[in-house]
Parts: sequence; C-alpha cells; structure tokens
Amino acid sequence: MKLILLGAPGAGKGTQAEIISKELNIPTISTGDMIREALKSGTEMGLKAKSYMESGALVPDEVVIGIVKDRIALDDCKNGFILDGFPRTIPQAEALDSMGVDIDLVLDIEVKDEVIVKRMSGRRVCEKCGKTYHTESKPSKIEGVCDVCTGALIQRKDDQIETVKTRLETYHKETEPLKDYYDAQGKLKIVVGKDTIEATKELVMAALK
Ligand code: AMP
Repeated sequence: MKLILLGAPGAGKGTQAEIISKELNIPTISTGDMIREALKSGTEMGLKAKSYMESGALVPDEVVIGIVKDRIALDDCKNGFILDGFPRTIPQAEALDSMGVDIDLVLDIEVKDEVIVKRMSGRRVCEKCGKTYHTESKPSKIEGVCDVCTGALIQRKDDQIETVKTRLETYHKETEPLKDYYDAQGKLKIVVGKDTIEATKELVMAALK
C-alpha cells in the first residue's frame, strides 16, 4: 500500500505512521526526520534547510522532492510505503504524480489547533536516536532519558510555542489545500484524531480496510 498521511504538525501522524508501518510491514518516509538527519550530519542540504526549518517555514519544494524521489526508489519501498509529512504543498503533490507514484490512500488526521499547541509544547525527542515522547501522553520511563538508548530528551526548536504557531499558519495556507487536491482524485479519507494514540489508531486501522 502506498499511503500519504496528511494533517497539521502535531496531529499525531508520526506516531500513527510508526504503528501502521509495523502492522503492514512497509517503511515510513518522514521528510522531517530525513531533513533533521541531514542537518545533524552537516550535509549541504541540511545546512540549506536549517533556517527554514527552525523558523517554522517549509523547506523549498525542489529540495524535498529530490529527497523523496531518491528514497522511494530504494528496494524496501517496492511493496509500498507511508509518506509522513510529504507532500506539503500542491507542487509537491504534482511532482509525486508526475513521478508516476500511484497513491492508494490519503489519510488526513484532523486535530484542532489549540489541542496541537498543547501537544507540541510537551513533545520531547531523543537527541541520540530520534525517538519521540510526550511529557503527558507518552512519557519516557525515566524523565528526560530515552527508554531505547538512554540518550537525553530535548525539545526541538521547531516545537517551541512561537514556531508551532508559525508552523500551523504554514499548514493552513500551504498544506490544507491538498485535502481538496486528493479528494478530487477520490483518495481522501478523514480521521478525527482522538485524545489517545490507541483511540486514534482504531480509527486509522478501520480507514485502511
Ligand atoms: P515535520 O517533522 O514533518 O513536522 O517537519 C519539520 C520541518 O521540516 C517542517 O517544519 C519543514 O521546515 C521541514 N519539512 C518537512 N517536510 C517538508 C516538506 N514536505 N516540504 C517542506 N518542508 C518540509
């Protein structure tokens, strides 16, 4: 299955992508994670993306389109994949279409902005392995320490409140029009995100059937 997860930053796409990836045994392609990785390794692309990302703006289309094109050409994508955080603009969706990628389903996880702001301010990420946590809904066993690799848990710059607000504005302006784009292709399903990961998972799994 080739699946796109749509939704505002903080709507829970990443967590649901992890779950679906295990259930269906297909990889998740998160452009946000890939850009952060490039930034950490100090590649040219990472350096280019840094200022956009930290201010809550989108990285230029041609940069992310290039990343995704290379990634989906790899062997582990031949039985399908989950796109988490891509496409985020109409030109990105058009680029995907023109690559000949036949998307089966676009799942939009809808969560109100005020809920997102609350959620994101509690988000923590392991600086070593990248695993994500939440101070309330998905805490680590020991506060501030990653369960998996004992790395330190930090708050990403782009999860800080002012940046979150900018990211939400960017989402409404640039990404939300993709709902109509995929609805017109008959591929859109909407799931209203619930308070718990488990409850949202039930709805997501039902939508995949
Ligand atoms: P995420 O972790 O998916 O919320 O992505 C974090 C940041 O990476 C975003 O705020 C953007 O700056 C950048 N980014 C990730 N995916 C894309 C994309 N498809 N298009 C443009 N920028 C992106």
